[in-house]
Amino acid sequence: MCPRLAGFRDMQRRTHPEWFNAPVPPFGDNDAELLIVGLAPGLRGANRTGRPFTGDYAGNLLYATLQKFGFAHGIYAARPDDGLALRHVRITNAVRCVPPQNKPHPGEITACRRFLAAEIASMPRLRAILTLGAIAHQSVLAAFELSRGRFPFVHGCLYVLPDGMLLAGSYHCSRLNTNTGKLTAAMFEEVFHAIMHHLNPATGRHHEV
Ligand code: URA
Repeated sequence: MCPRLAGFRDMQRRTHPEWFNAPVPPFGDNDAELLIVGLAPGLRGANRTGRPFTGDYAGNLLYATLQKFGFAHGIYAARPDDGLALRHVRITNAVRCVPPQNKPHPGEITACRRFLAAEIASMPRLRAILTLGAIAHQSVLAAFELSRGRFPFVHGCLYVLPDGMLLAGSYHCSRLNTNTGKLTAAMFEEVFHAIMHHLNPATGRHHEV
């Protein structure tokens, strides 16, 4: 469906045959309550390792935060065989194939949405979605056939969608955003606190670690 992305993948396959170089599947069980939606696999991260955010700089803050909140158990060692296990959360991307310069074209985001929508529909216990960045946010809204004007992306936004689903948005935990201080660990954790409060309103407590 995406000739540009398929061509880029083929090129990577020739230069790095040992890399994953394929659409990256989600990480975590489909009975999770929380779905985290990133942008797309990083070239030397998820596209190399085959697991979302794994080996990507962005994975450092994401997995550290998931561990802090009891969503991830074990040691994150930036490799798919590190034994890290997710609980109650699944991680996926708005676009499943690595795009050149980390920038998927609008048509590619649209083409990949059917997989995102199918994934959301396949999660029977899903209660909350956290989008990392505006593109993921807008793609999730489009998957729900909701307008972005009604639920605009701002860091820390928290919406209850018409079917009761919580939609939370955070700046992407990319190297650029964390290095420039646009997103700090404290800001990212604040978003998780808000989600936890929604999932466990009585206590707002983290999962047992
Ligand atoms: N790695 C991913 O899998 N997704 C992102 O959005 C960034 C890095």
